[in-house]
Amino acid sequence: MGFVYQEVRIQERGQAVVIEISLQPHGGIRGHCSQCRRPAPGYDRLPKRRWQFVPLWGIGTWFRYAPRRVQCPAHGVVVESLPWSDGKRPLTCALMGFLARWARRLSWRETARVFQTSWESVYRSVEWFVQWGLAERQLAGVESMGVDEIHWGHGLRAANFLTVIYQIDGHCRRLLWVGQRRTEATLRRGLKALGPEVVKGLRFVCSDMWKPYLSVLATEAGQALHVLDRFHITMHLNQAVDQVRRAESSRLRAASQAAAQQLKHTRWTLLRRGSRVRGRARQKLQALLASKLQTARAWELKETFAHFWKYRSLTWAGAFLDYWTWRAMRSRLEPMKKVARMLRSHEELILNWFRAKGEISTGAVEGLNNKIRVVTRRSYGFRTYKAMEIALYHTLGRLPEPESAHRFC
Ligand SMILES: [Zn+2]
Repeated sequence: MGFVYQEVRIQERGQAVVIEISLQPHGGIRGHCSQCRRPAPGYDRLPKRRWQFVPLWGIGTWFRYAPRRVQCPAHGVVVESLPWSDGKRPLTCALMGFLARWARRLSWRETARVFQTSWESVYRSVEWFVQWGLAERQLAGVESMGVDEIHWGHGLRAANFLTVIYQIDGHCRRLLWVGQRRTEATLRRGLKALGPEVVKGLRFVCSDMWKPYLSVLATEAGQALHVLDRFHITMHLNQAVDQVRRAESSRLRAASQAAAQQLKHTRWTLLRRGSRVRGRARQKLQALLASKLQTARAWELKETFAHFWKYRSLTWAGAFLDYWTWRAMRSRLEPMKKVARMLRSHEELILNWFRAKGEISTGAVEGLNNKIRVVTRRSYGFRTYKAMEIALYHTLGRLPEPESAHRFC
């Protein structure tokens, strides 16, 4: 509105051929102030500038226009508002939206190469897209929230961990917030960013047994039922079995080669659920279970715990938990005892899983975590944490998108 396409030309620029589209202001419509968007009397005109548009037939395409300056009664002499531009960047909004949509399907580097632009342009486009989406998104109606830590990059420094907050309602699962580190301060910052209305409206929160999270969630979202996630408890059990296996394996290797053979290449078999082990792996597992090895006992304990999740009654689940931890404490396997102590000290939160049954989707946190890993591992060429954060919101945030006159992809 308020502008006309004047002339379209194919031009040689250096080696390349480009399409240049000249624009002119509509004679009868005044320019609008870029601050308040109200029409204002003209002041003067700036030199011609160019904005990159979506490439047509693979040919780079540019808008060419000399912006007017207007004299706004409220804001003084300012550049007019240009509907194809966000004011700062040399890319049109149409191109930024185009690149951002493609950047979900291809890596950022590939997107830049295919559409003859720079990595930086793709980055800026996604950033603009995400900022728009974050400003416009609706947070009303978030009832269930999952909090988790994610490792990224190399090394185990504090900065290599991220705290992520998800919405895990049945009708909407998305990334709500991500921040560096996994301290109390990080989570507080995240909850603050979401705002007190969201936090007060929560009915369920789901997290790991990570202490900083437990204490912040207890103080900030005390009204919500806090559930320890099944996925995390299984993970702790698996880690314990693996610790037993590793310790025993090195002990056996020191004693004799033949004995150590029994544990070789069993790591992934042991982590799998018993009913899912097939073929030769199953035979090997049977032989292992028949042995007197510690690993076999640890694995058996882990398998038994799977029954816990099948209970319908809170009372029976509680009784099972008592029984299981009692057995684990007598197993003489330190890693299993450690899990048992951990489960005992968080018994209430673990049993909340049964109180919330049917209300929260159990696999949601795990599913979203797997998706995050795809993003952090994919070679987007993220040079900075900031870029990765933007990529996460872009792919998992389910953000609203700016509208454009035409959808190119
Ligand atoms: Zn104004």
